[in-house]
Amino acid sequence: MPELPEVETIARDLRPHLAGARIRAVRVHRRDILRNATPAALSRALLGRTIASVDRRAKHLVLTLDDLARLVVQPRMTGSLHVTNARRRDPYTVLEIGLAGRGRLVFRDVRRLGVVLLLTARRWDAYTARLGPEPLEAAFTHDTLARALRGGRLAVKKAIMDQRRLAGVGNIYASEALWIAGIDPSRPAEELGRGEIAALHGAIVGVLARAVEGRGTTVRDYRTGTGEPGTFQGRLVAYGRDGEPCLRCRRRLALTHAIDGRATYFCPWCQS
Ligand SMILES: [Zn+2]
Repeated sequence: MPELPEVETIARDLRPHLAGARIRAVRVHRRDILRNATPAALSRALLGRTIASVDRRAKHLVLTLDDLARLVVQPRMTGSLHVTNARRRDPYTVLEIGLAGRGRLVFRDVRRLGVVLLLTARRWDAYTARLGPEPLEAAFTHDTLARALRGGRLAVKKAIMDQRRLAGVGNIYASEALWIAGIDPSRPAEELGRGEIAALHGAIVGVLARAVEGRGTTVRDYRTGTGEPGTFQGRLVAYGRDGEPCLRCRRRLALTHAIDGRATYFCPWCQS
């Protein structure tokens, strides 16, 4: 599932094509991707509007219209977005948005697990208020992370993946950051000391920034906004490396599903 670096890459790739473009057509091919609007209501809200900006919030792509309504796309497992001029339509296209003089934005989703939401400016405020702080913003400090980890006896991995506590970190970058910080993913979050929180903060910010620079991680389905795989999969230090030597202590990395049923990759020797 695309996490912060993947959706950030998609937003950056799409921005030059979409920002300032006027919407001249809306075609919904699979209405089950719409969560809170009918195809007709979506068309009414979008037609004739200009896309003012293209951003990312947590793991979601956000198109802001000139009336400040938002079109939010959650790509989930197999969703991808690109802009094309091609006439032929891919059979997995779920939504197309035609842009005056700029081709069309295509949302493609093989398993149709993605979600498209249409939010008024007021509903957007409520939506974004429920999400945690953005880890790549300057305001994300050690104290911000300490607050995100407070409360409940949650495993630290589960806490940093909770989108209400911290935005944008999912299963891949949680395993990566905890390995880099040398912290056992199953440790109760509120037990971490100040030094460990500082290490985890640096690890989260560092790995997300490097993954953005590498245009994201393609394990299977993720594609950038220009249709290519990311490159960060070649630089992962923990995720998917069970049985392989730890890059720090050379002993074998392990895989567990004990935290929330999700795959967690870690070094049983040097993450304590
Ligand atoms: Zn190790």
